[in-house]
Amino acid sequence: MSGDGATRAIQVLAGAVSGRVIRPSEPEYDAARRVWNGMIDRKPLAVVRAAQVADVAPVIRLASQHGLALAVRGGGHNVAGNGTVDDGIVLDLGDLRRVEVDAVKGTVSVEPGVTLGDVDQATEPAGLVVPSGVVSGTGLVGLTLGGGFGWLIRPYGLTIDNLLSAEVVTADGSVHAASESDNPDLFWGLRGGGGNFGVVTSLTYRAQQLGPQVYAGNLFYGRAKWAEALAAYAEWTADLPDELTSIVSLLVPPPAWELGDDRLLIIGFSWAAPHRPEVDELIGRLRAAAAPDEEVIQPSRWVEWQSQADGLFPRGVRAYWKNVALDHLASDVIDAIVRHSESLPRGIAIDIHHMGGAFARVPEGATAFPDRSARYWLNLYSFWADAPDDDDHTADPGRARRPGAKRARRAVRELPGQRGNTDRRAAAGACRLRTNQARAAHRAEAAVRPPEPVPAQPQRPRRLSPPAAPADCGQPRKQAASLWARPSAPAIGTRHESPPRPQHSTVRQGDRHAHRSGIHPPRV
Ligand SMILES: Cc1cc2nc3c(=O)[nH]c(=O)nc-3n(C[C@H](O)[C@H](O)[C@H](O)COP(=O)(O)OP(=O)(O)OC[C@H]3O[C@@H](n4cnc5c(N)ncnc54)[C@H](O)[C@@H]3O)c2cc1C
Repeated sequence: MSGDGATRAIQVLAGAVSGRVIRPSEPEYDAARRVWNGMIDRKPLAVVRAAQVADVAPVIRLASQHGLALAVRGGGHNVAGNGTVDDGIVLDLGDLRRVEVDAVKGTVSVEPGVTLGDVDQATEPAGLVVPSGVVSGTGLVGLTLGGGFGWLIRPYGLTIDNLLSAEVVTADGSVHAASESDNPDLFWGLRGGGGNFGVVTSLTYRAQQLGPQVYAGNLFYGRAKWAEALAAYAEWTADLPDELTSIVSLLVPPPAWELGDDRLLIIGFSWAAPHRPEVDELIGRLRAAAAPDEEVIQPSRWVEWQSQADGLFPRGVRAYWKNVALDHLASDVIDAIVRHSESLPRGIAIDIHHMGGAFARVPEGATAFPDRSARYWLNLYSFWADAPDDDDHTADPGRARRPGAKRARRAVRELPGQRGNTDRRAAAGACRLRTNQARAAHRAEAAVRPPEPVPAQPQRPRRLSPPAAPADCGQPRKQAASLWARPSAPAIGTRHESPPRPQHSTVRQGDRHAHRSGIHPPRV
């Protein structure tokens, strides 16, 4: 489209929506085009800040009529930068942040710009939660469309496993309800298939009872104990009740934590039920198998536990993340993790999420989310401050020059038991993922096709045959690694050190002093 044509189209748009249309000549443009990942530097023709849900359809129609690329943005946290676009239109839904809690029905409905923190704050008075992720500024709708996992994955599954219904505006500007009974194929695709089926204007979730307090904590291990702690963790996680979700982190703590400059292994957990002696016994079992150097375990407000890591993820940090699903945490995997963690540079960290529980009980094909059988997910995330370091931290092998990025990539590639890129199982996983994506697209497209003439007798919607697996599925190939299992998005995270100030106290633990910090290190 010519520059003049696009300019005219955007003028027309400005008259058709109630929200602001911000163009490159305007002073707010630079701030409006930015997303969370500072490495993403795209220049859209305009950013439309929707002021109401009714602004969505005119933007879609205009982009479609004029062949302009459209990026949809909620919380702006997509690490790959899918929330913005060069030479197209950004539909920014971030001002639409209404949350409706129905404590009687136990449901929560949200507008498309809500963050995880908005929802946690709104549900707290009713003692309810919507299972989501671990950094409160993340957009809930974007997170949901990719699956969504966090501290409640074992008791309640992914965020999509708690989704009841959606309202979606599709490419022709028409509005569709999606649920198990309305447009079920579209609903299937929305749950883990990414954001490509239309613009979601509302989601309704089944809320779970929890809080306002949660029993949670962290156990800290110095380098000498990593192998022992990981072996103990592997054994411990073989047999845990669903209420207990845990995440291992390997990171150099930021200076404000006052835990030194060495990389630490941290086992964090949260217990999604009222505190009972059982949980102390379970933690005691882990402690007995691998005594931590320090620990902080205490009841916390759920909203605080959920936002403990926020200060570590400031908007504008440069970020690149990878992840991989693991079948096991046996000694070969532990050796690889320990070996690589010892040599990773400061800005690269690892998380290992214990999966299973309710997450694993959802049948594989019930949603578009690709892999329910993974026992653990490993996230490797890199973060840095300066643009000249971009090449060194990104995964394009031709571009990475410094050993840090190469070591990080090798660390993921060489992990035994992973469904990554080295064995037949990985190839099957990658194929399943791509097949699921193709099926999601196919089903969603079918679901929103213009209606056919109404038959004389009402019929149940017929399921369409899904596309076959991609032709190259017999060949082992590299699995597209993605953050938190979002199938379509490149992945990896970044963590930047500007944490909140800790509140310190010193507590006696056994026969020595243990440092107690008000900060709980982050998980992502
Ligand atoms: C600091 C940080 C912490 C994170 N923590 C977690 C975590 O704990 N658990 C987890 O599962 N993930 C986590 N993520 C990943 C996050 O869930 C995804 O990056 C997600 O895409 C972010 O959604 P958003 O709305 O903030 O992003 P945006 O960039 O605004 O949106 C991302 C994409 O989602 C789609 N989308 C968003 N809104 C809509 C809509 N209304 N309609 C249609 N499509 C839409 C679009 O494709 C859009 O490009 C984290 C990411 C970051 C940066």
